[in-house]
Amino acid sequence: MFDNLSYKLDRAFKTLKGTGKITEINVATTVKEIRRALIDADVNYKVAKEVTDTIKSEALGRDVLISVSPGQLLVKITQEELTKLMGGTKEDINLKGDPNVILISGLQGSGKTTFSGKLATHLKKQGRQVLLVACDIYRPAAIEQLKTLGEQIGVEVYAEPENKNALDIASKAIAYAKKNGKKNVIVDTAGRLAVDEQMMNEISDLKENLDPAETLFVVDSMTGQDAVNTAKTFDERLDFDGVVLTKLDGDTRGGAAISIRHVVDKPIKFISTGEKMENLDVFYPDRMAQRILG
Ligand code: GDP
Repeated sequence: MFDNLSYKLDRAFKTLKGTGKITEINVATTVKEIRRALIDADVNYKVAKEVTDTIKSEALGRDVLISVSPGQLLVKITQEELTKLMGGTKEDINLKGDPNVILISGLQGSGKTTFSGKLATHLKKQGRQVLLVACDIYRPAAIEQLKTLGEQIGVEVYAEPENKNALDIASKAIAYAKKNGKKNVIVDTAGRLAVDEQMMNEISDLKENLDPAETLFVVDSMTGQDAVNTAKTFDERLDFDGVVLTKLDGDTRGGAAISIRHVVDKPIKFISTGEKMENLDVFYPDRMAQRILG
């Protein structure tokens, strides 16, 4: 994860590490290299500029010039600022309501169905009763995919393959959950290859009518700046509660993880790092910053 970014950041700090006496110019050069590394990793330009300006003023304010190990101090400051940028502290998903409804949104292929299965597994491990709902009314294969996942993880899946009304399916599923003691209902929805009006209407209609405790936006981290732009578009219509970043195990450059919180002002709540059901992690900004800095 983020190998290239970690390598470039490490290289940026190298000039300061082991240097006894440093100057303001040394710090400025290193900070410039950090900025370039972030931009190369697909971090939004404005975000990269803001965070590196802060790192620089923090460094000079904290007497990095007279510190015994200026390189280490700068790494520490960078870590702190990246942590803040990604939200500071971990944020849990909301679990309330009877039943507690969790709506999953995102583009097709982003990893919604896979994540729905992972979240069901995660909640089941906590001893919770879960019902998965197949609301992708356009792709019969998606319904089958969810059913297969459900069987694999031992979680019941509610589906009505002949019904083409997502809201109707979800409403019936919620009634079914109430009757059968399933306190948590995960609604997997349809996605398109690009944002379109019909898709937006459908998902915002589901949100308005189902009144979910948590609406999550799932996005493929490999799509870099597009991930951030799509998140912004979805948030403007949906006002979602949190982001799920998928495919962080792949050759992702890391920009989405670093920028999304700042640009959209919604927390990342989970990260997905593989196709297997256990490849799901709760997102901790400090741990992520630590990983980025190697
Ligand atoms: P959906 O169309 O949004 O429901 O997306 P899917 O859940 O069907 O996922 C699309 C593809 O991405 C599938 O082949 C998944 O196995 C794969 N996938 C999902 N999440 C991850 C992940 O975190 N890492 C990797 N490597 N693949 C993933």
